[in-house]
Amino acid sequence: MIPPGFTGAGLDRADHLRLDPDRLAALKGHSQARLLRLDGLDPVLDEAGALAWGPLEDPDALLLFLGLKGEAPLFAPLVRMETAGQRAWSVFRLLALMSDRDAAIWGAARSLNEWHNRHGHCSVCGTATAPFRAGWGRKCPACGAEHFPRVDPVVIMLAEYEGRVLVARQPGYPPGRYSALAGFVEPGESVEEAVARELFEEAGIRVGNVRYVASQPWPFPGSLMIACIADAHSDALTLDPTELEHGFWVDRAGVAAALAGDSTAPFVAPPPFAIANTLLTRWSDQA
Ligand SMILES: [Zn+2]
Repeated sequence: MIPPGFTGAGLDRADHLRLDPDRLAALKGHSQARLLRLDGLDPVLDEAGALAWGPLEDPDALLLFLGLKGEAPLFAPLVRMETAGQRAWSVFRLLALMSDRDAAIWGAARSLNEWHNRHGHCSVCGTATAPFRAGWGRKCPACGAEHFPRVDPVVIMLAEYEGRVLVARQPGYPPGRYSALAGFVEPGESVEEAVARELFEEAGIRVGNVRYVASQPWPFPGSLMIACIADAHSDALTLDPTELEHGFWVDRAGVAAALAGDSTAPFVAPPPFAIANTLLTRWSDQA
């Protein structure tokens, strides 16, 4: 099975080194240490389409320690942004060129940078905080609170009814694109309950038998996408027009045609690095 996008970085995150200043200094001085090059928060690719890396020029710069690739310590810059990063469609064109491994490494660097820029002040007392743990946390100098990078769980799901699944599009999607429905898990909710609530809110359908399929980090800015399939009790749709422009039920042949990029397919599939593509692929491959 093809793994979901933004997974498979293959780095040893070496958490035990993050709080060790001597070991970190040694890593920064290591002959194989490399610094990820970024354009704002976007990836920079070399001629071969691989992530571009450079030397660590300033040993005192604030860096995010991504982990060890074999012996080589990999770092990313801590990018100061005037405004919080926005998901730009242009980065999707770059992602389509990148290996899964590079996308995973860049995704972690982007997500961590987004978190630092959005969480510059202590959520307990409001004082400006400073990075610690080699970039995997921020600490408040006033009240001592320690803050750790947020990951926001999002459910993304296919409702299935008599051999067909529900796909839908939001107004901002590229022409013809349809995807699985998705929504944030709320406090006090299980994954299964979030799937059922979102499908009822957005499409007016009741479901049961929610099954987990796969997950992926989604660095816009810091979600964990949890992909599921659920059995719908009926195929009568009541779409929420504030969320969705259109939706319809599609059979396996239609999904397979979309995934193959067939020009006669009933919709344009999400890109391979989006877990909606993984979800449609896994469902389509089921006998
Ligand atoms: Zn504080």
